[in-house]
Amino acid sequence: MSIFSASKKKVLVTGGAGFLGFHLCKKLLENGYDVLAIDNLFSGYRNNIIELQKFSSFEFVRMDVKSKMNFKVDIIFNLACPASPVHYQKDPVETLTTCIQGAINVLDLANKNNSIVFQASTSEVYGDPKVHPQTEIYWGNVNPIGHRACYDEGKRCAETLFFDYQRQYKTKIKVARIFNTYGPRMSLDDGRVISNFISQALENKEITIYGNGEQTRSFCYVDDLVSGIIKLTLSEAELSGPVNLGNPDEMKIIQIAKKIIQLTKSKSNITYQSLPMDDPVQRNPDITLAKNKLSWIPKTSLDTGLIKTIDFFKSVINN
Ligand code: UDP
Repeated sequence: MSIFSASKKKVLVTGGAGFLGFHLCKKLLENGYDVLAIDNLFSGYRNNIIELQKFSSFEFVRMDVKSKMNFKVDIIFNLACPASPVHYQKDPVETLTTCIQGAINVLDLANKNNSIVFQASTSEVYGDPKVHPQTEIYWGNVNPIGHRACYDEGKRCAETLFFDYQRQYKTKIKVARIFNTYGPRMSLDDGRVISNFISQALENKEITIYGNGEQTRSFCYVDDLVSGIIKLTLSEAELSGPVNLGNPDEMKIIQIAKKIIQLTKSKSNITYQSLPMDDPVQRNPDITLAKNKLSWIPKTSLDTGLIKTIDFFKSVINN
């Protein structure tokens, strides 16, 4: 059964030129939505926009989510924020301001239009978690003054704003906590583990493991994630808080390095480098809520998803 309703709707995607933004816009366009994307192109790519412009119902405006917006839209997806540690730590004050001012702007716009507003929150709100796997009722363990805080605390404050707007103004909000996601169109140099390892493996360069590689992450393929975001946003289920979206298939970073070496048939060796400050030791979403309320579970195996991602990276490297 389709997750989309039949009526044609106008949608705003902030951060539409980014990795997730691209895939979300594409899925919405393929299903008959009119999509307006905004992006300041800090970490988004013009190439993504060029691809989306093949759809006549797509429109792009280069603007910052920190600027006041005045669009007539039925649904807002707020994705605008650099999301990889390398990008969000480049200008931490900008990251924090984007999270907070961006949230206020999309919430005000939602109130003006009486539209639904989706917030891309993150597993980073759990910080270096002491509860495992992470359930939505866990409040997290975040260092408020560390290098990751600009993103973690920014996203936590955005969640606060979303739930305060809901209580104070009855704003129609949807909040997902998104766990590590990968797939085609990740940028080769965004510094994330999957993109780094695939680029390094394809070029037979050393695979850089930070720390001892025993830390864990759970990786969700982008198509699964996008279907979760859309299901949540269009759902009429009663929800009293955010919903975890991610793949609960947890693995050690050393295992992911070996898997990528095997799938790319690479000659790369592994090298160990120092672990960044506050790097979470374990991360795994409890997705019981998404399963029960949205009938959503990720379907793509890590091997299938990695092969598609590797093919994309090969095409970029060979061009
Ligand atoms: N990581 C690594 N080598 C790299 C890039 C990342 O070992 O070249 C590690 C990083 O220290 C972290 C994990 O992989 O433990 C996931 O990092 P990523 O930046 O992808 O996401 P996040 O830390 O935000 O979950």
